This record gives sequence, structure tokens and C-alpha cells, in this order.
Amino acid sequence: MFFEKFRMDGRVAVVTGGGRGIGLACCEALAEAGATVVIVDREAAIAEAGRATLAGKGHAAETHVLDVTDSAAVDRLAEAVVARHGRVDALVANAGIARTGTAAEEVADELWLDVNNVNYNAVFWCNRAFGRHMLKARRGAIVNIGSMSGYIVNRPQLQTYYNASKAAVHHLTASLAAEWADRGVRVNAVAPTYIETEMTRTAVDPSAVEVWLRDTPMGRMGQPHEIASVVHFLACDASSLMTGATVKADAGFTCW
Ligand code: NAD
Repeated sequence: MFFEKFRMDGRVAVVTGGGRGIGLACCEALAEAGATVVIVDREAAIAEAGRATLAGKGHAAETHVLDVTDSAAVDRLAEAVVARHGRVDALVANAGIARTGTAAEEVADELWLDVNNVNYNAVFWCNRAFGRHMLKARRGAIVNIGSMSGYIVNRPQLQTYYNASKAAVHHLTASLAAEWADRGVRVNAVAPTYIETEMTRTAVDPSAVEVWLRDTPMGRMGQPHEIASVVHFLACDASSLMTGATVKADAGFTCW
């Protein structure tokens, strides 16, 4: 009985940035729990690679190629998912970009806007679009991917724009949670530490990793599946009393 709460059979889950990294691990976790998974990614090749990876593990998934910063396209996507499946039960707003390395005083408007558009504005576009359908059904769980960078300032890499965007995601999560709590829709977030994905492999100088590990109580980076299991918990009924929370999965990073 108890573990029934972790099952998601018959439910529909949408994962943005679901083609690789943390998003793909979330797709795997949700599919394994029984959900029908919808992968959303702006890169067709990445979305298809994600679908093929899931298929290799026995899980079917549909893909939608879409830039989440296009709010009208996000609205159309939500309509299409509900039209096709008759429901949407979970949204994982995971798509994000890093672009680290620019000192605050050198940040061009374009860089600030690019990062905040994907990491923050688009999280709102997705919450709003899917939230509308969930509110109508009086049922749904949204999980936004924030970051420990929403709590601390990373070093040695410079990334004001990223840190600010993630802090905004955490507060957006609490704000939406409060508005929607009595209408059946829960909104939570996860704040990961450094996770081994393309983002951390490509966004920083490899020498930064030494500093990161020294700053991490557990002394290691995380793996995508270690975030996916937290996301699954927040997306399923096991977390039915939780809304507005940002759960740190940070290897103790924010303790120091
Ligand atoms: P990743 O770069 O491996 O994957 C991100 C995915 O999002 C890619 O498939 C990419 O194509 C997609 N994407 C990017 N912009 C998009 C857009 N505008 N529209 C649609 N899809 C888009 O990154 P990741 O490490 O898996 O990161 C996933 C999330 O986790 C991000 O929000 C990131 O900020 C957050 N995060 C990552 C780490 C880390 O250390 N990797 C730590 C904390 C938080």
C-alpha cells in the first residue's frame, strides 16, 4: 500500500530539457514509475537521442522540439499534450543553460537576458501553461529545477546571471505554490549541487572541479539519477503534503 504512492501509472509527465543530463534521468525515473513521458527539448537530435535511450530501457516516450523561451509555443504544447492524452499530471521544468565565466561588470544585456530567459522566464511560461490545465483538473504536481546557486555564490567561476536566475526560480516556486495550494496543484523545486552532465563538462574550466570538490562536504559531484529520484518523489503522491519547498540535493554544499 505504502509504495503505491510512488507509482505514476496512467499519468502523463512532461520534462523540459528532457533529452539529456538531469532531464533525461527524470524521464527515466518517471517512466519507470509508470508515467507516460513527454520529452521537450530545443535540439531535435538531443530529443531523439533521449527517446532512443528510453526505448533501449523499454520505455516509450514522445518528443516535442521546442524552445521553452517561446511562450506561445509553450502554450500550444500544453494544449497539444492535453488534447492527445486527455490530461497532464506532472511537469518538470528542467531546461536551463549556464554560460559561466563573465564578470558582473562585463555582462552584456544579451547574456543576462539569454540566461534569465531560459532559466527563469521560461520556467514561468511552462508553469503557467501547464498549471492552467492542472488547475482545471484540480490535480497536478510541478517540479522546477533550481540550484544550490540560488542559495550560495559559486566559486571560482563567475556567474551572477545564473545565480540570480536560480534564486528567482525558488521564489517563483513558493509564490505559485501559495496561489495554487487549495486548488489541487503542488509546486516544488529541487536545488542540486554540481552534477556530472554536459553542462558541467563544457561550461567551466576543468580546473574548477578541484575547488568544487574541496567545497563539498561529501567530496564528490552528483549523478543525474540522484536528482531524478528527488524529482520523482516531488512529482508523485508520496510528497502529497509538500508544496512551495525547494529541496536541496547538494551533497552538503550549503552547510559550509
Ligand atoms: P544539460 O545542458 O546537460 O541539459 C539541458 C537540456 O536542456 C539540453 O538537452 C538542452 O538542449 C535543453 N535546453 C536548453 N535550453 C533550452 C530551451 N531554451 N528550450 C528547450 N530545451 C532547452 O544540463 P543539465 O546539467 O542536465 O541541467 C539541467 C537543469 O539542471 C538546468 O536547469 C540546470 O541549470 C540545472 N542544474 C544543473 C546542475 C549541474 O551541475 N549540472 C546543477 C544545478 C542545477
